[in-house]
Amino acid sequence: MGKITGFLEYDRKTAQEQPCEARIQHWDAFHPVQSESEIRDQAARCMNCGIPFCHAGVTWRGAGSGCTIGNLIPEWNHLVFKGHYEEAFRRLEKTNPLHEFTSRVCPALCEGACTAGLNGDPVAIREIERFLSDMAWEKGWVVPRPPKTRIDKSVAIVGSGPSGLTAAHILNQRGFSVTVFEKSEEPGGLLMFGIPNMKLPKELVRKRVDIFRQEGIKFVCGTDVGKDMPVSELDRFDAVVLCGGAGQPRDLSVTGRNLPGVRFAVPFLAEATRRVLAGETEDKPLAGHRVVVIGGGDTGNDCVATSIRMGADNVMQLEIMPPLPNERADSNPWPRWPFVLKTDYGQQEAIWLYGRDPRTFEITAVSIIGDETNGVNAIETAQVEWVTNERGRVPKQIEATRQKHAATDVLIAMGFVGAETYLPEAMNLTLDRNSYMTTRAGVFAAGDMRTGQSLVVRAEADAKRAAEEVERYLTK
Ligand SMILES: Cc1cc2nc3c(=O)[nH]c(=O)nc-3n(C[C@H](O)[C@H](O)[C@H](O)COP(=O)(O)OP(=O)(O)OC[C@H]3O[C@@H](n4cnc5c(N)ncnc54)[C@H](O)[C@@H]3O)c2cc1C
Repeated sequence: MGKITGFLEYDRKTAQEQPCEARIQHWDAFHPVQSESEIRDQAARCMNCGIPFCHAGVTWRGAGSGCTIGNLIPEWNHLVFKGHYEEAFRRLEKTNPLHEFTSRVCPALCEGACTAGLNGDPVAIREIERFLSDMAWEKGWVVPRPPKTRIDKSVAIVGSGPSGLTAAHILNQRGFSVTVFEKSEEPGGLLMFGIPNMKLPKELVRKRVDIFRQEGIKFVCGTDVGKDMPVSELDRFDAVVLCGGAGQPRDLSVTGRNLPGVRFAVPFLAEATRRVLAGETEDKPLAGHRVVVIGGGDTGNDCVATSIRMGADNVMQLEIMPPLPNERADSNPWPRWPFVLKTDYGQQEAIWLYGRDPRTFEITAVSIIGDETNGVNAIETAQVEWVTNERGRVPKQIEATRQKHAATDVLIAMGFVGAETYLPEAMNLTLDRNSYMTTRAGVFAAGDMRTGQSLVVRAEADAKRAAEEVERYLTK
């Protein structure tokens, strides 16, 4: 335990983010790291409680609680408080090979389960992780460590998001020869071409991939397995792990869906990142545009922030669900993840820029209006009420609330329905949510492709378990 009275002496503190006014002018990260002494105070707040839930990664009645990759949080908090930073970092990397990503984008399931949060404010765990991760890169503690011995067996990994990278890393460390196939021009999955640069700078993805390359993992990019490359080429590997993500977005079924200007969120965000990587950060391709984002979740929020940086005149965000409560509901007790309303970075920026929260809750798109030549010019919406019928709780449109709003762009950010089917079909196999091995011997699946749309940390956790299954299969 760090400081016995730490949680009584120090309040929770997080880093002061750059104000909206400044950060919407650029595409860089705007969340700094706290100073060493501030971070030590924050680490001192960890009680190293008798039964910590922060690192448990369990599910209670359907809701997740704690870190799914089992980060040794109380241990590194204690070591940080003592000033033993390298030792703390070594504890962190033991469980988490992608700490530079989780320390920036993880919603921090650990903090939702922190004992200090039971009747106060949780320890700022993600910022402590970020401090350690940044320090490790700066001080050169992150170095390539190729395996000392090699096993004469090979593994192909399809997809290079957090699940593909984690599976590749673990199996490479165990001595297998690993090749990662990726259809995009460079590795990283949604870390690279999904999550915006201001939330996750792309040089970090490149630095991580570079370390993995130096450790011996081979990356083959620009290769869509099942389209550019026949699946029969995977037969030369002793095992295959499919980590292709949940690539099928949920679509919108309304009149006008196919008009020019209506797009899915991920291709829109990926294009924005490609512009940033090409140095086209001064362009304002959405100047004069009125953007409507359909979906009030995290991806929708990323679309709001991205549209703002692209110069949009106005951004609206439509969410069909009612808003979450401001405080935990009685049915959502600690240490489960708190389902409470948050106003995320893009929404904060919209409030600053346009003077109002871009979100409207309990609303749906009824039709998109425009023509093939000029694209979208309006969207019609209606408020909904949630009613219970034989199909359960369903939204019912309130006809009297129909309204038209001027619009030029509609971004569909309504989540994902699962993995794309062409690869499993070409390989003549079925994915199985209850098992890492698919219906074809030697072919495994992990991450969002297996579990459905999730989080970076969960994709990592899933890939760790899949890699263990692969090792068992190859060494039996
Ligand atoms: C916009 C957005 C923002 C998000 N923000 C966050 C966040 O802030 N925090 C968080 O924790 N989670 C976030 N998520 C969720 C998180 O990114 C995913 O849960 C995670 O990336 C899933 O990892 P994965 O490796 O399973 O799949 P992915 O990251 O989707 O990677 C799959 C990869 O497989 C490749 N691929 C697919 N099929 C083939 C094929 N046939 N051949 C070759 N390659 C193929 C794809 O090109 C892709 O690169 C976000 C998701 C989105 C869409």
